[in-house]
Amino acid sequence: MSIKISKKIKAYSVIKPEEKAAAQAVAAQVAAEAAKPKKAEVIQMHERLERPECLEGSTYKIKSPLFEHALYVTINDIILNQGTKHEQHRPFEIFINSKNMEHFQWAVALTRIMSAVFRKGGDVTFLVEELKAVFDPRGGYFKAGGVYMPSVVAELGAVIEDHLKRIGMLKTELSPEMQEAINKKRADMQAAAKANAVANSVHLKDSEAGLDTGFPANATLCPKCSTKAVILMDGCSTCLNCGYSKCG
Ligand SMILES: [Zn+2]
Repeated sequence: MSIKISKKIKAYSVIKPEEKAAAQAVAAQVAAEAAKPKKAEVIQMHERLERPECLEGSTYKIKSPLFEHALYVTINDIILNQGTKHEQHRPFEIFINSKNMEHFQWAVALTRIMSAVFRKGGDVTFLVEELKAVFDPRGGYFKAGGVYMPSVVAELGAVIEDHLKRIGMLKTELSPEMQEAINKKRADMQAAAKANAVANSVHLKDSEAGLDTGFPANATLCPKCSTKAVILMDGCSTCLNCGYSKCG
C-alpha cells in the first residue's frame, strides 16, 4: 500500500507492535458491540418524560373538622414500560380541589411542587414522611377509624402513602400472616362484644362494637400508628391496626 504525501513532513514516529495490537483490539470490540442485538430500553422516571395525552388517576376525599368543605385530592399515574416485566406505575401529578378557597394559593403551590418532585423521578416516598410530620397549631383531629391526624397536610401525606401502597411503590408493613392474626383478633373482639350485649340484653350501637371502624370503642391510641386500636389481649397491649404489641 502506498500513500502519497502532499504536505511537508514535520515529524514522524514509528508504530510499535503493541500499539498496533491495542488499536486492533479496540476496533474489534467496537465491531462486536455494533453486531450485538439492541436490548429494549427500560424507561425510568425522569423530568424530560413527556406527559401522555391520557393518564389514569385516583381521587381521594379528605374531610377534616378543621375545614368546612371537603378536599378532593387527585393523583394521576403514568405507566412506564407497559406490558413488559418492567411495568411500573409512578405518580405523575397531583391536584387538590375544594369549595374552600381560603388556603387555595398554598394548596396550589404545594401540589405544583409535589408534581415536580414526582416527575423528577427517583425516590419520592420521602414526601409522605415530610407531610405526615406537619402539625397544625390549632390541634389535630381523629379521622373515622380512630386514626389521629395532626393536620390536614398530614392527612394529605397519609393519602399519598395509601396511593403509593396501592401502586406498589411503598410496601405494606404487615406480613400476610401478621395481618391474618390481627383480622382474627379483631373478629374475636367484635363477636365477644356482641355476645356480651346479647347476654346483657342491651342494644349495642355499631360504634360500641367497633363495627364502623373495625376497632372496639374502648381501644386506646397506638404509639406506633396513631390509631385508636390498642386493646389488652392476654396481658399484652396489642394494636389491631398495625400489630404493635407491648406486654406488661
Ligand atoms: Zn398501631
